[in-house]
Order: sequence, then C-alpha cells, then structure tokens
Amino acid sequence: MSIADNIQRVHERIAAACARSGRDTSEVTLVAVTKQQPVEAMLAAVAAGLQQLGENRVEEAALKIPKVDAEAIQPVTWHMVGHIQSRKARQVAPLFDLVQSVDSLRLAQRLSRLAQARERDLPVLLEINVSGEASKYGFAGYNWHKDEAVRQQLWQELSVVMALPGLEVRGLMTMAPFGAEEQVIRRVFADMSALREALDANLPELSMGMTDDFPVAIEEGATMIRVGRAIFGERNG
Ligand SMILES: *Cc1c(COP(=O)(O)O)cnc(C)c1O
Repeated sequence: MSIADNIQRVHERIAAACARSGRDTSEVTLVAVTKQQPVEAMLAAVAAGLQQLGENRVEEAALKIPKVDAEAIQPVTWHMVGHIQSRKARQVAPLFDLVQSVDSLRLAQRLSRLAQARERDLPVLLEINVSGEASKYGFAGYNWHKDEAVRQQLWQELSVVMALPGLEVRGLMTMAPFGAEEQVIRRVFADMSALREALDANLPELSMGMTDDFPVAIEEGATMIRVGRAIFGERNG
C-alpha cells in the first residue's frame, strides 16, 4: 500500500465515522503525524493532498521542516504535538503554526513571553490529561466533572492561560489511554467534549484520536485527528 492509498483509506474511515455520528467531514481536520518519517515520505503525503503535518520533537522538526517547506508542492501547516522541554521552547514558535501540546502553566507562560518578544501571536491548544495516567503530560483533568478540587484547579489554571498575552488558545487536545478498551477510550473522549462545553469559552478545536482510535474520537466530537501509522506504516522503535 502506498502512502496515497493509505491516506485514501483514512479519508474513507473519517467519512464513515462522520456518517455514523451525523457530522460533516469538513468538521474534521486530518493532521498527518510524521515523527520518525523521512522527508520523502512527508513529501509524498503532501503530494497526496495533505497540508497539515505534525511533529513531536523540536530537534527532528528543525531538521525536516525547512526541507519539506522548500520542496512541497503546496504550503504546509505545521503542528507541534509532543512535550516541549523548557530549553527547547524558544525554537518552537518560529517552526510551528499551531502548538497542540501546551501541557502546563509554566510552558504557557514561557511561550507567551516568547510570542510577545516576537510580536506575533502563537496559536495553541491546551493538552488535558483526562485519562489520569501518570505517564501522560497535560493539565490535570481526570474525573473533572465529579471531583470538585480537580475542577477548581483546572478552571483556575486554564483561565490564567487563556488570559496570557501572545497566545491564541484555539482549543483542547488529549491522548487516549494507551491500549485501553474502546469503552474506556470513548469515555475519555466524551469527557473531553463535555469539558470543552463546560468551559464555555471560545474553543473551536478539539484534537483527539490517533491511528487506533480516531473513528471513536470523531464520533465523540473531535475536530482534529492526529494520525501517523495508518498513513506511514509502523515506526521503527
Ligand atoms: C505519535 C503521535 C500521534 C500519532 O500516533 P499514531 O498511533 O501513529 O497514529 C498522535 N499524537 C501524538 C501526540 C503523537 O505523539
């Protein structure tokens, strides 16, 4: 199967999930996650019509993005989807169009200062850990609808972030628990949709769903899905 065939297949599955949930396919943006993929594969995805690409490491992205930008047949919108170490934050704004992985108040404050210095707003999503796994980054949101302390802390932190100058908060992002059953994953995604509603702020984007769970994410309201392996095949290591 070629990359173009795989993309076609993903589009068909997006359409099926939209049909099942009464949504229009125009409501769902496909972001191809190109981590560990060579520039040639990234260019093949762009040639097959994808314009939104995501990377999870600043160093790797800094090497590949200029090459892809130079050779791509159409402009690419770049998404940062991985955890950003403090000392790498400075490199992020010049490379990426949307930072999906703003996962702490500290990082948000740092990116805000850097954006102000550049005199250019940085579009971001706020990553929420609703699954509660300790291994996951994000603002703590496990059980937010039942746990008053979690809710208060989350509302407090998010309201501070949303007021920061230089950041344009466009929505929320999450990762499902790794290898969990579909019911569990569905509940995590439904919790995220409900959280976005409950925050009652202007948060148009809800980024959730990867290769193993994007149809469920779409059924639960994702506006952005981040897909790697279904497009490029298994990663080595
Ligand atoms: C790797 C990655 C993806 C894509 O994962 P696949 O399972 O390959 O589709 C999506 N989001 C993030 C944050 C990732 O790191």
